[in-house]
Amino acid sequence: MDDIEIRTHTALHVVKGAVRKVLGAKWTASTWVSKGHGRITIQLFNKPGESDMKEIFRLANEKIVEGVPVKMEVLPREEAEKKYGDEIYDLFPIPAEVKELKIVIIEGWNINACNKPHTSTTAEIGEIEMCDWRFRRVKNLLEVSFNLKKI
Ligand SMILES: [Zn+2]
Repeated sequence: MDDIEIRTHTALHVVKGAVRKVLGAKWTASTWVSKGHGRITIQLFNKPGESDMKEIFRLANEKIVEGVPVKMEVLPREEAEKKYGDEIYDLFPIPAEVKELKIVIIEGWNINACNKPHTSTTAEIGEIEMCDWRFRRVKNLLEVSFNLKKI
């Protein structure tokens, strides 16, 4: 991953935190990053409104401007599960043979087991803008895509 993709990837964590706050959605189904473009797919059971989506990006950019630390903790898997519960997991499972987890923490915002590289603060991401979103009712999935404003 180059620097741009590290910023885009870190933005996924920030966007997820905002989706969690606005829509209460907990489970990430998939993510995708290419240069300054990112997409996250989250399990959701009711179609959100355009205003919800705008609020998500308003909050995400607010969290970016705040410049809070993106912390990482390495823990034995059992310990991580005891400490954080299933909050660290996504819909796609981490293989059972993985015994140590890297936990990425944006305090009060997002916590996720993730072994990819991240920026050290949210400010380093730079502003993001919503590109598109769609709700797939049959699959109960919300797809949200965004771009970094400055590549
Ligand atoms: Zn990550």
